[in-house]
Amino acid sequence: MTNSELEKAVKQFGQRCSSISRIYSIGKSVNGVKLWVMEISDNPGIEESEPAFKFIGNVHGDEPVGRELLMLLANWLCDNYMKDPLATLIIKKVHLHILPTMNPDGFSLRKRGNTNNIDLNRDFPDQFFPVNDDLDSRQPETKAIMRWLKEIRFTASATLHGGALVANFPWDGSENQKKQYYACPDDTTFRYMASVYSHSHHNMSLSTEFQEGITNGAAWYPIYGGMQDWNYIHAGCFELTLEISDVKWPNSTELPTLWEYNRMSMLNLVASLVKTGVHGRILSTECGQPLPASVTIKGINYTVKAGEAFGDYHRMLAPGESYEVTVSMLGYQSKTTRILLEDEAMSVDFILDPEEGPGKQKQVQSGCSCSYGVEFLGWTVMEVSLLVMVILAFFCILLRRKTIFHKQRQSVGQKRALVVHLFPPLQTAEEARQETDWAPQLHPVLSRSLYSARLPIPPGLLAEINDSSYLNF
Ligand SMILES: [Zn+2]
Repeated sequence: MTNSELEKAVKQFGQRCSSISRIYSIGKSVNGVKLWVMEISDNPGIEESEPAFKFIGNVHGDEPVGRELLMLLANWLCDNYMKDPLATLIIKKVHLHILPTMNPDGFSLRKRGNTNNIDLNRDFPDQFFPVNDDLDSRQPETKAIMRWLKEIRFTASATLHGGALVANFPWDGSENQKKQYYACPDDTTFRYMASVYSHSHHNMSLSTEFQEGITNGAAWYPIYGGMQDWNYIHAGCFELTLEISDVKWPNSTELPTLWEYNRMSMLNLVASLVKTGVHGRILSTECGQPLPASVTIKGINYTVKAGEAFGDYHRMLAPGESYEVTVSMLGYQSKTTRILLEDEAMSVDFILDPEEGPGKQKQVQSGCSCSYGVEFLGWTVMEVSLLVMVILAFFCILLRRKTIFHKQRQSVGQKRALVVHLFPPLQTAEEARQETDWAPQLHPVLSRSLYSARLPIPPGLLAEINDSSYLNF
């Protein structure tokens, strides 16, 4: 599939599956080829309190299998929506964004780097060494990805490569540049995610080179300026680097087989976003306002941010362990709860109380924008008070004039009560909460999520895959 054929296929997909997809471009390659993305969701383009996943194919120009499989994946999801439970789950509960090619120029030149001969998987800022810090020399394809990650809050992602068969996870580089296992804070979670892929694959987990078909990046060979580590550090996105075929550029007749080998892996990895981990919403106790608070897990030096619009958070975690979850936000009292994450995802909502003290209270108030709270139509308390005083003064003058008028007309005037309803009476926080439709539970409340599929990767998975049934995780 040439670049123009790919563009046509993406647009055809968008037309054929318009109710569950949106087509958009995140930028252009050096040679001006648009980097098309297919977003697949039951509400494409609309922000929801759901996790987002991205697939990126063809990072290296001479590794084209990913771009082909991603088109097959998009079409398979469209064809099986409301027919297949996994396709339906992904479309209903995840926003899946698919960029079939990040390097169309390299592809048409049949070479690894882009047209400037830059390896795009070495072009990102690095945590250990000051490489690629110069914005001007950064490639447009890399810039497009970095911009994209500022716009969309991805929970996890995977890039597709060729030339080996293994699921690779951070860190990709080590501080002393030695080839060694260099674990990132979420090593256990990443090992789990990589295992989901390798064990759902036809034969990746049977690898003789990589135990279980997974590897820490630096243990395999350290790289610097890679996309995977940058995603995890700077975008809150848990990214895997997937080597999905031993042969970089196989014959096109191999594609149906490669698709079958990788299909369940791709589906299960995306579905793992809602089948495991801890999810929920963080809201203010004052008026139920969503809070973009920070979520941390005791013992893991990593922070996941909740969304601005809904206060939703999606924290990937390996199952079968207990975790201490702390939610914090400036101006609010932190809350901590302990969870036992078993075979299913867990839903935990947090309602945060404002911090006490005059200075702190002001900070909270300025961030509250509910209809009946301390802000009204974007006005501060002081502005509203001044307005009320002016209106009351006006009515007082009016009343006085009226009274004088009455006194002039009648020798004995009868005073009447004056009640002015300028705004609906202020509600209590509890009343405000009751009026909203999200019905939060008081913290700490643990509840089972909607996602009820089982989680551990069972042995003997190959039999299940051959039976075309799904991985029970
Ligand atoms: Zn590659």
